This record gives sequence, structure tokens and C-alpha cells, in this order.
Amino acid sequence: MITIKSEREIELMRKAGSIVGDTHHYLEKFIKPGITTKELDKLANDYIIKSGATPSFKNLYGFPGTICISINEEVVHGIPSSRKLKEGDIVTLDIGACYKGYHGDSAWTYPVGKISKEKQDLLKETEESLFAGLAVIKDGTHVGDIGYEVSKVADKYNLGVVKELVGHGVGNEVHEDPDVPNYGKQGTGPILKEGMTIAVEPMLNLGTADIYQLDDDWTIVTADDLPSAHFEHTILVTKNGYEILTKR
Ligand code: MG
Ligand code: MG
Repeated sequence: MITIKSEREIELMRKAGSIVGDTHHYLEKFIKPGITTKELDKLANDYIIKSGATPSFKNLYGFPGTICISINEEVVHGIPSSRKLKEGDIVTLDIGACYKGYHGDSAWTYPVGKISKEKQDLLKETEESLFAGLAVIKDGTHVGDIGYEVSKVADKYNLGVVKELVGHGVGNEVHEDPDVPNYGKQGTGPILKEGMTIAVEPMLNLGTADIYQLDDDWTIVTADDLPSAHFEHTILVTKNGYEILTKR
């Protein structure tokens, strides 16, 4: 069931979303060669708690970290560890925070120091696909319209669209209905209504769309080892458009 949020619920989601956005802003300055992903995870945990929220992903389905940190060919669900970031890496921080029972969810891929032109383009183009998907959202938009726009951008740049992982409704649970795939046909899928809150989150690969899961039972990586980027915002559907809840 896709829920329509009340004014009170939307206010709480704005607060949860702003804590997520602020956590990104706070962590960004620590993304440098030499920091471990575990250190970033601890900074995220402390910041979210200090903000009056709780980390949404800690123990979610048994996830061992506070946030998901995925490097280079890792697509999503990387587990924080003693691995150090290196110059030229790209790193995705996927952050969720829960405030008074409501969640915000946002992922962003960052450069570590100076990165290759190929990786710069991948980040720019994946971000472009997120905003292309968001641009069609308003009361009455079909979910398929979002995926259609995202994959149109991916096709333009010859990037692989990850299909096994999708965006989703957000609210009392991090993952609610509907699924929001990054591919689709216009005019198909559930119809969005004013007051719905969803996460749109393209995951685009420099190479093929194929992925697999590592033996740690969490980390998803690209099959060809080429880098992957992930940009996500939680948004509120409005009558004539959308409001980003997780902005910085
Ligand atoms: Mg996320
Ligand atoms: Mg999400």
C-alpha cells in the first residue's frame, strides 16, 4: 500500500530528511585519502545521534554499519571497515536517519582527492539522471515515467542501469511501497499522488549493468569491476512537482 502522509508526518519527514542532508554535508569534509570507512561510519553515527535521530540502517535486516559506504566498483551496501580511502577512489555514502518514527534516505557519490575524467563524468551523469527522473514528478505521474527518464540519460552516456535494486516509498519504514525502478515505460506503474514520499536512486555503472553480491552477504559489486555511482534523494510529491526532503 502506498501511504499519503499527513501534514504532521510531512513535517517529521522534513526534519528527518534535513538531518540526512546535514550528515552528508558534515561528512563530506572528511572524505580524504587515508581515512577508513569505519572512521566515517563513526562520525556519521555520532552526528545523527547528536541531531536527535537514530541511524536507519543500523541493524536493518542485520546490516552491521551505521551507513553504507561503497567504493569504486562497489554499487551499494558496502560495510564500513578498516579499509582506507585512496586518492582517485570514488565513494558512495548512503545515509538514513529516523526522527520521531520517520525516515530520510539519501546516497551521494564523492570523489576522493583527484579522480579520473572517466569517474568525473560518471558522477556528473548519474547525478543528471537523478534530476531527470525527479523532473517529471508531480501529482498524477506514473512511477514508470521516472525510470524512463533515468534510463534515457543512462543510455545517452552509454552507462549500465542497475535493475535489481530500486528506489522506494519512505515513511515509517525506510522501505515502503511503491518500488521505483530506474527503468520503465511512460504511463505505466503506480500513479503518484500529492503527499506521497519516495526515494529516487539511480545506480549507474561505467560498464555493463551486471552485478553480484560478495561473500560478506552485503556488498554488491559490478561484474566487470568498473566503477558505479549512486545518487539518491527522498522527496515529497506535490501538486505541481516535488520537494526534496534530503537537501543539504
Ligand atoms: Mg539510500
Ligand atoms: Mg533508498
